[in-house]
Amino acid sequence: MVKRLNLKAYGKINLGLDVLRKREDGYHEVRMIMQTVGIYDKIELIYQEKPEITVETNLYYLPNNENNLVYKAADLLMKEFETEGGVHINLKKFIPVSAGMAGGSADAAAVLVGLNKMLGLGLSREQLMERGVKIGADVPYCIMRGTALSEGIGDVLTPLPPVPQCHVLIAKPGISVSTKFVYGNLHLDKLKLGQHPDIDGMVKAIRERDLDGIAGRFGNILETVTISAYPVIQEIKDTMTELGALGALMSGSGPTVFGLFTDKRTADKAYEELRYGKKSEIAKQVYLTDFYNVED
Ligand code: ATP
Repeated sequence: MVKRLNLKAYGKINLGLDVLRKREDGYHEVRMIMQTVGIYDKIELIYQEKPEITVETNLYYLPNNENNLVYKAADLLMKEFETEGGVHINLKKFIPVSAGMAGGSADAAAVLVGLNKMLGLGLSREQLMERGVKIGADVPYCIMRGTALSEGIGDVLTPLPPVPQCHVLIAKPGISVSTKFVYGNLHLDKLKLGQHPDIDGMVKAIRERDLDGIAGRFGNILETVTISAYPVIQEIKDTMTELGALGALMSGSGPTVFGLFTDKRTADKAYEELRYGKKSEIAKQVYLTDFYNVED
């Protein structure tokens, strides 16, 4: 048996995000274009004789008990398969937390994949995805990764061809946004048809590998809530556009904003400006990365 395993849990951005309706059970039906990016958390799994799951993280404000999603993922598999022994999980966070980048879901997905391997459980990717949805709606996607259309509550996935590679500037203002607050304040009946992003057009542009068409269709219906509450998000979007981004958009329920750049020098300059320049006060965390594609 493998006794130690190092894993990378990649974050995501949404190139498009639409909400269709609220279901009776409280979940929202969504249509989202998911894209994995090159920012990842590092997770080490260490097998231990004592039958316990223990968690250690580099961020003091994250739970290191059963409330951490890595714990939930390990617990789910270890209970179902009644495995002997336990696991110590060392989680080093780099994906911004509560940012709309599915960091917690990515960590849970990595632990499911890693433990399956470490304990030789023999589950297929689909079987891991079926279990992952019990932890969170985005976990199945985080197991699949790459570019995908996500529907239902986020668990109905259609893989899409990779988006043409480009530079992705990511900036998070120094605020935390609760996903519950955003969905709770989304009043679909008050929105106009034009406020819904063109997800079908975006899928078509992705299939045609048309980067301009993709950026031209950027849209996230949750911006209507989050930007109204936190105008700094709009300021970051405008700054990225002024600095030469092909398009800029809020990811998930926010507050993280990303901008796409085709030219490396323009992207580097925009990074410098938001990280150290006059605009640095509007962005607390700034990263320059690229798309992570499954074939990479
Ligand atoms: P999403 O894009 O799916 O809405 P998010 O980026 O907004 O996710 P996360 O960073 O995934 O948010 O999760 C934030 C919340 O989840 C915090 O309340 C945090 O305490 C809790 N949490 C539990 N486990 C983790 C984890 N492994 N990493 C980050 N947050 C975690």
